[in-house]
Formats: sequence, structure tokens, C-alpha cells
Amino acid sequence: MSVAQLEKLLQEQIVLKDGCGFCEFGQKSIGDTDDRGSVIIHQTGVNPVEDWYAVLQDTVTSDPRTGFRILLLPTGHVRAFAQVAMNYNRAVDYGLSIATVSIAMQEVRAEDAEHLGVEYVPMERIDGKCFARANSQEHMHIKFDEPSGGLAQPFPVDTKFWIRNQEPPVNRRGGMIN
Ligand SMILES: [Zn+2]
Repeated sequence: MSVAQLEKLLQEQIVLKDGCGFCEFGQKSIGDTDDRGSVIIHQTGVNPVEDWYAVLQDTVTSDPRTGFRILLLPTGHVRAFAQVAMNYNRAVDYGLSIATVSIAMQEVRAEDAEHLGVEYVPMERIDGKCFARANSQEHMHIKFDEPSGGLAQPFPVDTKFWIRNQEPPVNRRGGMIN
């Protein structure tokens, strides 16, 4: 993509796209479900230019008995993260929505941990996707995952590249990872 093509993308009007399931679902209300059983749990409005909504997904990457995943989406057909910055309210609601989803996720996890009598760590993983040649869904979406059950961790652990002066990590058979 050239600089001129990026400029063209940034000037694109953000609208609802016919046939896009994410655009369609965003016009529903908090508490509504889609065909798969995902439910809308957060919504700043239904204006495709600036609003956002979040859904509790029917799929998880963590323990299926206790885990959950939240998906945050722009209400309109935003195809690239760079497009978020092109409207002030769109950018503000983006930040507020990320903050809202994060605190909601941790409050639920802390309550669950207390109820189950297990250790709680306020950890989550945020992973966003947008238009790419290899991506079947071009409508930007951000996944919020949590690590219940000790699952959904990268293995071998990748912390040694980021944190210095720590004990070397061990693998699940007790051996050191080089
Ligand atoms: Zn869409």
C-alpha cells in the first residue's frame, strides 16, 4: 500500500456495510444475542461513525468451565486501526470502551476466584485484528482473553525476553528452557 492509498483509506467514510455480520449485530441493543449465542454487554451507541460495542463470545481460549472472552468492535465498518484516529469521538469511545471492558472482566474474575477459593491475578490479553489479505473478517475487532485454569499461556514461556533478573523458566516436565 502506498502513502496515497493510506490517505485514501483514512479519508474513507465509516458506514455500515451490507452483508457484514459485525455491522448488523452492532445495531442491536445490550442483552441481544446473535445466532451463535454471543450477547451484547457494552454499547456506546449505534452511530457507525463513532460508536463501539462489546460482546460476550461463545468461544474461549481458556478453561471452558470458567473462562470467557469479550470482543470489542466499532459499530461502523472500520477496516484498519489507523482509521480510529480520524474521528475524535470514535477515538475517545475506543479508549473508554477498552477501559470499561478491562475493569468489567477483572471484577468478574476476582469475584469468581473468591467464590472458588483460587488465587486471582488481574491478567488479561488483548489481541486486535483488522483487514489483512489472510484475514477473512475485515471489520476491525479486538479480543479480550483471560487465563482461567492456567490455560492460554504461550509455551515455552516468552517472559525471559522481557523481564531480566528472574529465575529461568521451567517447562511442564520440570526441565529448564534454554
Ligand atoms: Zn462491518
